[in-house]
Formats: sequence, C-alpha cells, structure tokens
Amino acid sequence: MPPSTATRQSPRFEIIGAGMAGVLAAIKLQEAGLDDFAIYEKADDLKTRGSS
Ligand SMILES: Cc1cc2nc3c(=O)[nH]c(=O)nc-3n(C[C@H](O)[C@H](O)[C@H](O)COP(=O)(O)OP(=O)(O)OC[C@H]3O[C@@H](n4cnc5c(N)ncnc54)[C@H](O)[C@@H]3O)c2cc1C
Repeated sequence: MPPSTATRQSPRFEIIGAGMAGVLAAIKLQEAGLDDFAIYEKADDLKTRGSS
C-alpha cells in the first residue's frame, strides 16, 4: 500500500522564508541534485524587497 500523506516523512531540507536567501538556497540544492526540500513562507502574498 502506498504511504498516506499522514505518514509521509518530512523533507530532508526545510527552508524558512521565500525571500532571496530562501530561493537561492533552493536553487543551490537543486543544482547539487538535492530535490528533497520544502520552502515555508509566512506571507500569504508577494511583497516588496526585504519584507522581513
Ligand atoms: C526598502 C528596501 C529596499 C531594498 N532595495 C534593494 C535593492 O534595490 N537592491 C538590492 O540588491 N537589495 C535591496 N534591498 C535588500 C534586499 O531586499 C535584501 O538584502 C534581501 O531581500 C534579503 O533577503 P532575505 O532572503 O535575507 O530576506 P527577505 O527578502 O526579507 O525574505 C525573508 C522571507 O522570510 C519570510 N519569513 C520570515 N519569517 C518567517 C517565518 N517565521 N516563517 C516563514 N517565513 C518567514 C518573510 O515573509 C520573507 O518572505 C532592499 C531592502 C529594503 C528593506
């Protein structure tokens, strides 16, 4: 039986914030072949530069 979403393991990498640093971290992980990551962003819409 395939695992349900309730039993899915956490991603290997968790990136907090989808600002410049977070997006670049994700890009570098992908470039290194490490796709098991998630980005968590608290804002519910796009904001201007340096929002935090
Ligand atoms: C007014 C202003 C103008 C600027 N103009 C320029 C410019 O012209 N050129 C330039 O190169 N740089 C500029 N900068 C600087 C540039 O915006 C910052 O250096 C850059 O955005 C920093 O990126 P960051 O990812 O560290 O932070 P941010 O871009 O602030 O991103 C952080 C993200 O994390 C999220 N976050 C915070 N806490 C949590 C949490 N607990 N859980 C989930 N998500 C969270 C925030 O919502 C945000 O989206 C400017 C900055 C300001 C304030």
